[in-house]
Amino acid sequence: MMSAVPLQRAAEVADTSERRITLLGATGSIGTSAIDLLKRQPERYRIEAVTAGRNAEALAQLARELGARFAAVADPACYGALKDALAGSGIETGAGESAVIEAACRPADWVIAAITGAAGLKPTLAAAERGTIVALANKECLVCAGTAFMRRAAAAGATVLPVDSEHNAIFQALGAGPREAVLRIILTASGGPFRSWSLEAIRNATLEQALKHPNWSMGPKITIDSATMMNKGLEIIEAHHLFDLAADQIDVLVHPQSIVHGMVEFTDGSVVAQLGPPDMRVPIAHCLAWPHRIDGANRLRLAQMTNLTFEEPDFVRFPALRLACEALRAGGGAPTVLNAANEVAVAEFLNGALRFCSIAELVEATLGASGSRGLLREPADMEEALAIDADARRLARELLPEIAAKTI
Ligand code: NAD
Ligand code: MG
Repeated sequence: MMSAVPLQRAAEVADTSERRITLLGATGSIGTSAIDLLKRQPERYRIEAVTAGRNAEALAQLARELGARFAAVADPACYGALKDALAGSGIETGAGESAVIEAACRPADWVIAAITGAAGLKPTLAAAERGTIVALANKECLVCAGTAFMRRAAAAGATVLPVDSEHNAIFQALGAGPREAVLRIILTASGGPFRSWSLEAIRNATLEQALKHPNWSMGPKITIDSATMMNKGLEIIEAHHLFDLAADQIDVLVHPQSIVHGMVEFTDGSVVAQLGPPDMRVPIAHCLAWPHRIDGANRLRLAQMTNLTFEEPDFVRFPALRLACEALRAGGGAPTVLNAANEVAVAEFLNGALRFCSIAELVEATLGASGSRGLLREPADMEEALAIDADARRLARELLPEIAAKTI
């Protein structure tokens, strides 16, 4: 089968050539971690393009610091600020979704897809369709349109490298044996801030409590997804597409220390794991240098750890995880609807318009109502996935007042 994720270590290639880099989502948490690595070895990398959603000032500063050729901001209202901030720099500027796509289309050997949410889909696809290396952080794009995305990436000869720490771990561990000998993979989950909380306490969790992740420092959307454990659900669907594995070959274990990121169990009884500190610079460094290795950030000090523990996930206290597993098994448009409804619900929770427990309730209600709207059909292509995504967002917004008004 043709695969966009390289199945084996690429043949040795000289490690001397300069890599041209584009950063989609340069101002975010992943973008910042990637830039920290790039700045350590500036002679190895040349920056082609950088993009951001709205923060024109931060983007302009990055573009200058990195010597980028092109900077694009997604929100057209921010164009003036970007243009002013880069006046006289010689750096080209653009605004709007089309400018972000243009950034993705410019000649770069390596593009990091670190835009948050389904907004990252079109630019990420545009980069993949150039047949380049795409370091993929944006899991929502695979949940929304995984089959179409991976098909088009493979057809274009793109190399998709997983940035998400669990998937990067699996990618590394898969190299230990032939594909036919893979029994299953295990994605670990920290369990988030509410791992040991009662169902009652979780239902009433505040925004401030949900934003306090015990191990990882990340953007707000994925931090809330970690608190609901929808993040792990999205990651199961992400793994299904990246590694072409069936739902029953993908397991989750809660591992509160976030040191073991993923494991592959082979038929002979061997379980191969990747370990590392909970620092996204580790998987990003792996993707940045692949198939070589560069110096990373922090090192793992295992002797300083008293114990590493593993437990089964709780689908009752974390209904979002159950919903994602059900959506993967249902197939068709269900994962697309799940992702769209979750993006709407998380945005409303961040705005203070929904309670924590209502995030999963809104997703469940949207999935429940989506069949009668014809949204559960298998999206035949990217365009259809995007149409289902848009309709599912509309449906979630329609259902929102009723879910928000529900008392516990
Ligand atoms: P973030 O919110 O910190 O950054 C998101 C970036 O996307 C910013 O540069 C922002 O300006 C840009 N952006 C936002 N909306 C946009 C739009 N409509 N169009 C174009 N650009 C837009 O998010 P993050 O935590 O860096 O996460 C980015 C992606 O990586 C997400 O898909 C997330 O699930 C994934 N990821 C993140 C981590 C992590 O540790 N942060 C780990 C694994 C996977
Ligand atoms: Mg992850």
